[in-house]
Amino acid sequence: MTVQPFDVDPKHCLIAGEWHPCASGETLPLLDPSDGSTLCEIARGGPDDIDRAVAAARAAFNGPWGRATAPERGRVLQKLGALVLENIDHLAELEARDVGKPLSQARADVVALARYMEFYAGAADKLHGATIPYLDGYTVYTLREAHGVTGHIVPWNYPMQIIGRSVGAALATGNACVLKPAEEACLTALAFGELARRAGLPAGALNIVPGLGAEAGAALTAHSDVNHLSFTGSVGTGRLVQQSAAQNLVPVTLELGGKSPQLVFDDADIDAALPFLVNAGIQNAGQTCSASSRILVQRGVYAQVVSKMAERYAALRAGPAMADLAVGPLVSARQKQIVEGFLAKGADLTRIAQGTVVDDAPAGGAYVPPTLFEGVSPDHTLAQDEIFGPVQVIIPFTDEDEAREIANGTAYGLVASVWTRDGGRQMRLAKALRAGQVFLNNYGAGGGVELPFGGSGLSGHGREKGFEALYGFTSLKTVAAYHG
Ligand code: NAD
Repeated sequence: MTVQPFDVDPKHCLIAGEWHPCASGETLPLLDPSDGSTLCEIARGGPDDIDRAVAAARAAFNGPWGRATAPERGRVLQKLGALVLENIDHLAELEARDVGKPLSQARADVVALARYMEFYAGAADKLHGATIPYLDGYTVYTLREAHGVTGHIVPWNYPMQIIGRSVGAALATGNACVLKPAEEACLTALAFGELARRAGLPAGALNIVPGLGAEAGAALTAHSDVNHLSFTGSVGTGRLVQQSAAQNLVPVTLELGGKSPQLVFDDADIDAALPFLVNAGIQNAGQTCSASSRILVQRGVYAQVVSKMAERYAALRAGPAMADLAVGPLVSARQKQIVEGFLAKGADLTRIAQGTVVDDAPAGGAYVPPTLFEGVSPDHTLAQDEIFGPVQVIIPFTDEDEAREIANGTAYGLVASVWTRDGGRQMRLAKALRAGQVFLNNYGAGGGVELPFGGSGLSGHGREKGFEALYGFTSLKTVAAYHG
């Protein structure tokens, strides 16, 4: 089995349509989370490479890509989406081995990447301005224009999905992109760059510079010729990115973490809710910004939910990505250490149930058994802080007011869901919950390429996904013509 993205040397960067080693010639090891071995070496891009990538993007924006019509941009993205689907086996294996993601989850991410390309291909020629009734003798209208060069910094947990939503929307609106993938997982970013070349995306419209966050990432956020930044990652890095963007006064979209609750009321269809209650916590080994790490349950059904969730947890198995079990390894030994630190802080709490790490899981892999806690006070660190591992807490509540208070009682505001048959309660909580997305009697709505996504508070600001993202990747110009 190969871990090479197509015939691309993984030590290369994509700049101005060609693959090059980075300026320093230095490389970084890319580790396999399933066994700790080295998959390959990747480029350790730095400020010189970012300079060249931004210059290439600027030239593309001032040249063929900037002049492409909206239907032409849509056609390239459509072709790119088709190429992604044609290469689903290769892309899924790269993502599974690089991220440690169970293979079938990686396949779902390939389909999502293709859907982003299809959606934004179709949207490219449907974004338009407005005419504004004004004074006698004037015609006034607005134009939606690309920012120019956009910088995209993505994390390791869903590389394909996050590239799809951010680069897809940026290209659809005519921006030229510089992408800095995560140092822990960047193979599908390189594969995507190669497919973009094959789809006929003009040179320089998409440039990719792998490397460390503090080097390539920081150089991109500080670059004075970047006109917009899209960042997905941790709260701490998000603060640095926003500070850096402030120096150049460029707009920035921050998609950060979450502590998303599911609220289960006495009248809920518990059996319908169960798979969502558990899967939303353990998918991608809990390394999901919108993971549901808090399960709030009304007292009338509390015992029932606890016992049914415990049953499901007991059946969960964690093992290598390619074994395609319910849970894979965490992305790295460092991430495992962080999650084990949280588990240690829960030593005094009740562990209702734990999944198992399979016996033949390689010793060097970053495995943590999925773990379910109760007896957690809402202000305990396990109920307040993002763990980014397969760990959930169940908290009882008495009535709607208490449920709302606990749900809104963290510094995050990304996603929430409500399980109830009471229509009035659904509407009240949909308004009252602090979250960018609220789901009623479901969680996640199947991924929802079409659904605007983003948070408030420590979860960040700005919206990606759906048509809404196109507004973020453009600015509005007002044209006022006096003709008498
Ligand atoms: P991270 O912030 O360490 O890294 C994310 C990206 O930022 C990587 O590409 C990294 O190289 C880069 N980076 C690091 N330091 C940088 C700097 N100083 N300047 C510029 N770039 C820098 O986060 P992570 O550990 O990779 O990801 C986990 C976190 O991301 C979690 O908190 C999770 O909730 C969040 N996340 C959020 C979403 C979302 O959509 N809201 C999606 C995925 C992950």
